[in-house]
Amino acid sequence: TSEELVTEVVVIGGGPGGYTAAFRAADLGKRVIVVERFPTLGGVCLNVGCIPSKALLHVAAVIEETRDMSAMGVTFAPPEIDLAQMRAGKDKVVARLTKGLAGLAKQRKVRVVQGTGRFESPKRLLVETPTGRVRIAFDQAVIACGSRPIEIPGFPHGDPRVMDSTGALALADIPRRLLVVGGGIIGLEMASVYRALGAEIEIVELKGQLIPGCDPDLVRALTKVIGKRYQRIMLGTKVEQMKATSAGIQVTFAGEHAGEATYDKVLVAVGRRPNGDRIAADAAGVRIDEHGFIATDAHMRTNVPHIFAIGDVVGGPMLAHKATHEGKVAAEVIAGLPALFDPLAIPSVAYTDPEVAWMGLTETEAKARGIAYEKGVYPWAASGRALGLHRDEGLTKLLFDPETKRLLGAGIVGPNAGELIGETVLALELGADYEDIGLTVHPHPTLNESIALAAEMAHGSITDLM
Ligand code: FAD
Repeated sequence: TSEELVTEVVVIGGGPGGYTAAFRAADLGKRVIVVERFPTLGGVCLNVGCIPSKALLHVAAVIEETRDMSAMGVTFAPPEIDLAQMRAGKDKVVARLTKGLAGLAKQRKVRVVQGTGRFESPKRLLVETPTGRVRIAFDQAVIACGSRPIEIPGFPHGDPRVMDSTGALALADIPRRLLVVGGGIIGLEMASVYRALGAEIEIVELKGQLIPGCDPDLVRALTKVIGKRYQRIMLGTKVEQMKATSAGIQVTFAGEHAGEATYDKVLVAVGRRPNGDRIAADAAGVRIDEHGFIATDAHMRTNVPHIFAIGDVVGGPMLAHKATHEGKVAAEVIAGLPALFDPLAIPSVAYTDPEVAWMGLTETEAKARGIAYEKGVYPWAASGRALGLHRDEGLTKLLFDPETKRLLGAGIVGPNAGELIGETVLALELGADYEDIGLTVHPHPTLNESIALAAEMAHGSITDLM
C-alpha cells in the first residue's frame, strides 16, 4: 500500500529527543507526525537503554547489599534467581512507560507512523512501513534518529555469545565468565548486573583509566569497590582478536595485559555512533560529518533552516536528558518562540556501585585548559551516614572560581551520587558561590550534606577532616 500524508512538523525517531519535540510542538498548536522504526515510542532509552538497565541495576544493588550485611550480624542465603521472571519484571517496567507514551501521543493527536524514514527532498519524507510506503510532505522536520552501538570489524558479531548492550539487557543466560570490552558507563553498568547475578567479570579498556573523561579521583573510589568484585580490570589493553570456538570466545589482548583468554560471553560496549548516515540527509541538503553527526546552531537548526536535529545524532554527550532538552528547544523554535539550548552544565552519571556523577568543569579539563580553580573535597569516610551504610569509599568534590567563588563543577562518587548531583547543577545554573552552598542548611545525617561540607572545605571553614 502507498499513502500520502501532509503535516506541519515531521519528527524522525521516537526516542526521548523525538517524542519530547513532538509533544511540545503539538502542545504549541502544530500538527505533528512521528516516524519511528520500532513498534513502540521511547527510543533506545526506554526500550533498550536507560530504563531496562536501571531496572536490572536495582536488582543488582539489592543483591550486593545483602552480601554486605554480615558486618552488621545478618547473613542471607545466596539468592535464587529466576531469569525468566527477572526479564518479565524488566519488560513490564518498559511496557508501562512505552504504553504511557502512546497515550500521551494520542491525547495530543500526534500521529505515529511505524516505519523507517528517509528524505526524498527538502520537504518530503519516504517511510518504508511493515505494509508498504508512506510519503509525508512537511513544512518543518526534526531529525531525532539517535545512535547505534559501534561494532568492531572482524569480531564475531553474528555469534550470540558476542553481545552489544541490547543483547546484554536481554539477559539470555548468566555466563560463568564474562568479558566486558570497554570500561565506559554502559560496559560498567552491565558488568554490575552480571556480577550480582553470579558471573565472573573481566573488563578490558584501551585507555589508562575506566570511564575516560571522568576525573581520576572519582574513578579511584569506584575501582576500590569493583577491583575487589571483578576478576581482572585490564587498562591500557586492546582486544586484538576475537575468535568463536566451541569452548567459548577466544580473545587475544595486546598492551599492558597482553595474552589470551577464553570467555563464555563477551559484551562489546566501545561506544555508539550516530544514525545520521541512514536517513538520506543529502536528499534534503542536510550536511552530516564524516562520523554521521549533524551540526546545529543553538536553536537546534541544521544548515537547512526548516530542518532541525536533536539528541545523540547532533553530538555532545549522548544522554537522554540532553536529547529531551534539545527536543523542547527545537519544538519551541518551530512554534516561533525564542528558545535556545544553552545549558551551563549537563550532568553525567554512571549507575554503577558506587555511582559516579559529575557536571560542569572537571579537574582534568581545568588542568588541560589552564583554568584556575579552588577545590573542596569532602571524604565520605567522615560522613556518619555513609559509615552507617558501610560505604566509606565515596567523596564529594566541588570546584570554584577563585575570583568570584562561584561553583564551576562538581564530582560525586558513592551510593546515590546520581541523585545528589542534581543539587550542584541547580547551584551552578543559579550562579551559587561557596557561601550559598555551604550556608544552606542541609538535613543531617544525609549524603547530600556532603555538598555543603565540600563547599565549607573549599572555604577553609572546616579544615580538620582531611
Ligand atoms: P534514540 O533514543 O536513539 O532514539 C532514536 C529513535 O529513532 C530510535 O527509536 C530509532 O528506532 C529511531 N530511528 C532511527 N532512524 C530512524 C529512521 N530512519 N526512521 C524511523 N525511525 C528511526 N542516557 C542517559 O541519560 N541515562 C542513562 O542511564 C542511559 N543509559 C543507557 C544505557 C544503555 C544500555 C544505552 C545503550 C544507552 C543509555 N543512555 C542513557 C543513552 C540514551 O539512551 C540516549 O542518549 C538517548 O536514547 C538518545 O535519545 P535520542 O532521542 O537522541 O535517540
